[in-house]
Amino acid sequence: MAVGNYRKTQVLKSELITPNYKRVVLGGTDLQSFPSGYESGYVKLLFTKQGDVLREEEAFEQLAKKNIMLRTYTVRAFDKATATLTIDFALHTSEKGASPASDWAKAANLGDEIIIGGPGATKLANPDAPWFLFVGDMTALPAISCNLEQLPSTARGITILEVTSEADIHQLNKPDNIEVIWRVNPTPGQNSPLLTAIQSIEWPSMTPYVWCACEFEAMRSIRRFLKREKQLEKQDMYISSYWKYGRTEDQHKVDKRTDAELEGQ
Ligand SMILES: Cc1cc2nc3c(=O)[nH]c(=O)nc-3n(C[C@H](O)[C@H](O)[C@H](O)COP(=O)(O)OP(=O)(O)OC[C@H]3O[C@@H](n4cnc5c(N)ncnc54)[C@H](O)[C@@H]3O)c2cc1C
Repeated sequence: MAVGNYRKTQVLKSELITPNYKRVVLGGTDLQSFPSGYESGYVKLLFTKQGDVLREEEAFEQLAKKNIMLRTYTVRAFDKATATLTIDFALHTSEKGASPASDWAKAANLGDEIIIGGPGATKLANPDAPWFLFVGDMTALPAISCNLEQLPSTARGITILEVTSEADIHQLNKPDNIEVIWRVNPTPGQNSPLLTAIQSIEWPSMTPYVWCACEFEAMRSIRRFLKREKQLEKQDMYISSYWKYGRTEDQHKVDKRTDAELEGQ
């Protein structure tokens, strides 16, 4: 039963879109009350601190013990008529051990349950911008795909995407005048090709709207470039780190807060 913004869901479908990118479609009666219009926003997947899926029957007990771990994922699609929620997972491994969310998605099978929290605010580009630059790695691909699908058909711009392998490159549903540049990096989190790719594009004279999400250090180098070299202001961009190399989501969150405080000074 849905409690507040927490809903129990079941896997209805899971399929590899490409070797490192898996789509999971969730269903269940709790999703009947999930609100429409949150594509590009996020949900939180609930695990115990040991990395196990949080089960409904133990949820209150684990919440009371503060034995909960959250993982953030983009609402790729929600269909109100069928009450189905689609989440796309960048699959990855960790030298340090478990990656609860990615591991769960890799193994996801029909009927598997997971509790989700949310949804949280959408992350959409300003549709009135004269041109757009979207930049991201595979964790941002779902949100960038939502953005591209919601742009007016006349929109112009460039999308730069970092994927883990050549086989992860795939067709995107997008306006005709949005060019897509793919960059392959088999070592996500290290040697990101995103900044170099941004530096090599032809930059029109009008101020763009830049939407960028990727690994923490890559994001910081891109943000520096956009602010210092391109003089972009806060209102001209959405820029965020979606994960940090060598750090779990909980650790990344701490680093992100410190970074935001320093950046705001
Ligand atoms: C607003 C928002 C929306 C997001 N939407 C999506 C989405 O739709 N799809 C998606 O796949 N991700 C998305 N992410 C990123 C996702 O939340 C993180 O990648 C998360 O850390 C994955 O959790 P985990 O349990 O698999 O690994 P964790 O337990 O958090 O980390 C374990 C190890 O894996 C590494 N790691 C984490 N993510 C990656 C990665 N992508 N590639 C390589 N190594 C990694 C960490 O550095 C760490 O060493 C989003 C993040 C945010 C903030």
